[in-house]
Amino acid sequence: MWRDMTDRKTQIVVVGGGAAGLALVRKLAAKHDRATHDIILVEKNRTHVWKPLLHEVAAGSMDANSDEVGYGGHAARWGYRFFNAALERIDRDRRVIVTAPLLDEAGEVVVDRHEIRYDWLVLAMGGVSDDFGIPGVRDHAMFLESRQQADLFRRKMLNACLRANDRKPEGAEARVSVCIVGGGATGVELSAELVNAAKALRSYGLERFDEDTLQITLLEAGPKLLPALPEDVSDKVKGRLAELGVDVRTGAMVTRVGPRAVEVKDGPTIEADLILWATGVRGDHALSKITDLELSKRGQIVVEPTLRSKNDPRIFAIGDCAHCVLPGEERPVPPRAQSAGQMADHMVGQLDRAQKGQPLRDFVYRDRGALVSLSRFATHGSLMGNLIGGKMQIEGRVARLAYQSLYRLHLLAVHGPWRGTVRIAVNAINRVTRPALKLH
Ligand SMILES: Cc1cc2nc3c(=O)[nH]c(=O)nc-3n(C[C@H](O)[C@H](O)[C@H](O)COP(=O)(O)OP(=O)(O)OC[C@H]3O[C@@H](n4cnc5c(N)ncnc54)[C@H](O)[C@@H]3O)c2cc1C
Repeated sequence: MWRDMTDRKTQIVVVGGGAAGLALVRKLAAKHDRATHDIILVEKNRTHVWKPLLHEVAAGSMDANSDEVGYGGHAARWGYRFFNAALERIDRDRRVIVTAPLLDEAGEVVVDRHEIRYDWLVLAMGGVSDDFGIPGVRDHAMFLESRQQADLFRRKMLNACLRANDRKPEGAEARVSVCIVGGGATGVELSAELVNAAKALRSYGLERFDEDTLQITLLEAGPKLLPALPEDVSDKVKGRLAELGVDVRTGAMVTRVGPRAVEVKDGPTIEADLILWATGVRGDHALSKITDLELSKRGQIVVEPTLRSKNDPRIFAIGDCAHCVLPGEERPVPPRAQSAGQMADHMVGQLDRAQKGQPLRDFVYRDRGALVSLSRFATHGSLMGNLIGGKMQIEGRVARLAYQSLYRLHLLAVHGPWRGTVRIAVNAINRVTRPALKLH
């Protein structure tokens, strides 16, 4: 059993330190007295990078080292405990979670398997891209779900560019082809970010690398890009991507992925040096082994509108790992950063009420709209709100500011108002002083 501070303390365990979990532990630690409460974050990584930045990390236009948050330091600053391990199993009868052994690069055990007692357990483990059981996806495609995957994509992309640059004078076919599957925000934003990076490569010594060397194909099974945005916004985005040289194909249903090929129903097979899969969100496949809690068809933990799990009053789930259908709604709360942040806020009061035995309140999701950034080329989206009387489409500088404010809100949630503001200022300076591309 991992060191229990004292049996008398209320122990709140949060698993997963992403957009939802990290904001939650900070707020819980700031709210509760350490003499009465022990707030514990269990997270498999040692640092946090906000997921919506991963396409920039993958393209090299952001250096994640300068934006990451070290859990150890964050925990010391805010007064919660950080336990670096992956959740392996929940023993609901004994109210303990079991964490997997932490291994080093050589597979040696660094920290043994542990048990951690909980009074209240909040699962905030995020989600993964849905491969819909399509053959070859897990074996041959890359994903953009973690910092490690974004770093891997960037390294492979850079190697492919260096190879193409090196071979061009010999007359060999010199091209880097990337196939991105999924026309949601991730696929769209990564396409534009890669075009931006390719434009900058010449000034980084890849003199023979021109814009035609990079060929990007973006495949979307549905009739339009960006299902969360209105039709005309998605048309504009499609047009802008086409102007940037991206081959956008909607209605393209992928049926199989091979080592360097993406097969499309009723269409030609697309050959690609790099294949990136960015479709849908589902619960981590491991969840069914971790817990016997009810899971949705997409493998997410089914919660009541209060965010409490259907099967256990001591366990809650928030963010992408939760399947929450609110009263009067047919569809679940969407897996987005804004939902994760709002759920984290709601959990703070909810845990208070649960501890006092008071009735829980339903979560209310406030859709603030959706925005998509085409790197430095354009930003489009729609804002929702009572003040503007419903939905308003925005683009250009206003949209850019609204887009940037999403990350700023995350920084304030994670670092608090004072430190968050300093981080925002430092980031602004960094953007001016650091190189445009990270090429390692
Ligand atoms: C490339 C990309 C771009 C995106 N862009 C946008 C956008 O523009 N706007 C928007 O609203 N949303 C966007 N999203 C979605 C948004 O990032 C997610 O909805 C949000 O991060 C969900 O927060 P979360 O806390 O539920 O999960 P996450 O932020 O994914 O955090 C989950 C955490 O749990 C940890 N974890 C997982 N399993 C375990 C385990 N077994 N044990 C311990 N720890 C574990 C993970 O390491 C991670 O730190 C984007 C997502 C991606 C991938």
